[in-house]
Amino acid sequence: MHNSLSERDQQVNWHPYTQMQTAPPPIGIVRGEGAVLYSEDGKEYIDAVSSWWVNIHGHAHPHIAERVSQQLHTLEHVIFAGFTHAPAVELSERLLKLLPANQSRVFYTDNGSTAVEVALKMALQFWFNQGINKTKIIAFEGSYHGDTFGAMSVSERSVFTRPFQQYLFDVAFLPVPVPDQEEAVLAQLEKLLAQEDIAAFVFEPLVLGTAGMVMYSPEIMDKLLALCRERNVVIIADEVMTGFGRTGKRFACDYLNQEPDLMCFSKGITGGTMALGVTTCSHQIYASFLSEDKTKALFHGHSYTANPIACAAALASLDLVEAAEFQENLTCISSSHSAFVKSLVGKPGIKEIRQTGTILAVEFEVDQTSYFHTLRDDLYNLALDNGVLLRPLGNIVYVLPPYCITSAQLNQVYGVIEKMRLFVAESF
Ligand SMILES: *Cc1c(COP(=O)(O)O)cnc(C)c1O
Repeated sequence: MHNSLSERDQQVNWHPYTQMQTAPPPIGIVRGEGAVLYSEDGKEYIDAVSSWWVNIHGHAHPHIAERVSQQLHTLEHVIFAGFTHAPAVELSERLLKLLPANQSRVFYTDNGSTAVEVALKMALQFWFNQGINKTKIIAFEGSYHGDTFGAMSVSERSVFTRPFQQYLFDVAFLPVPVPDQEEAVLAQLEKLLAQEDIAAFVFEPLVLGTAGMVMYSPEIMDKLLALCRERNVVIIADEVMTGFGRTGKRFACDYLNQEPDLMCFSKGITGGTMALGVTTCSHQIYASFLSEDKTKALFHGHSYTANPIACAAALASLDLVEAAEFQENLTCISSSHSAFVKSLVGKPGIKEIRQTGTILAVEFEVDQTSYFHTLRDDLYNLALDNGVLLRPLGNIVYVLPPYCITSAQLNQVYGVIEKMRLFVAESF
């Protein structure tokens, strides 16, 4: 008699963002294919959140599996200081071709938090290397840039960061320029930028994910960035969530006229196959580190930096990103979401509906909004019971599907959201 994965897990594992004492047993997953996850007890779940936003082409994609497997038999890893290899060279060459024209160098790490951490260090050392005293960073209220200390510092201060509060560095927070706040935020940024010591502005372009899929327009972002440009503030676009098609274009920055100085990527970059972080920068940033003086180098690196397997997975994912079918899928999901949004407008239980490209967020009308409100768990369980994986953020449920999701599967997801709406409308 064998114990289930779920039972064995509960003896040995500690899960992220989970109160282990009260959390229900984890669901053991034995296989994935396309948008569907298969559990050890024979159930199927549509992965409508792309497994924490990473899986963009579907699970166990044969092309990625093939390329990763070839790479495993060629070179699994090599130190990336003093050495290089084909997957890293090719990936950087291909990635830079797709990014805003000013991006000229690629720095590898292994997750989104470290991609941001490196961008912050690059921005601060950019000024330090020139002997200029600019040390303050601006970030959006409600933003999420990761869980390491630097990334936490530029993120919203919340119950998640409270135990570490005294170790987080000081940041100037700017409200998000949502539609009715645009002019006020612009004025506030102008005021902030009057301070001489502003080093950088870090932001999630167009959509703040963890904040609850909070959205704002490319036009206002361009205006904010133009101000930063005028004031010589380093611009850091955190595309960890928005990158690789999420917003309907290849990158959220493709909606902007302004070019960021630094860009951060992870999540979708390998199609959700391997852990990989990427920070890219303009020549101006890179050049400030060039010197006969060794201490002006960037002293940052991880043992698995530019891992060849991860780079091979990213290259295979890029093949799919550059295929014609990719944009067709994005358009198809976007218009499907739009039609669903129209059907929800004005219905009881709905507070607000937001959409940018393949990202759909439905905010339910409730008395009290909190991550710990039981509604969140009720909605989560309702979705699972109906064969769909959705992870509401408080009273906000969002859909962020793999781009291979079929219209039948999308309709099943919408059906679950409609059930959630009825549940909310009846309960409150
Ligand atoms: C998820 C996320 C991160 C952190 O990435 P990890 O790989 O989870 O460390 C950073 N920024 C944004 C915008 C994210 O969504």
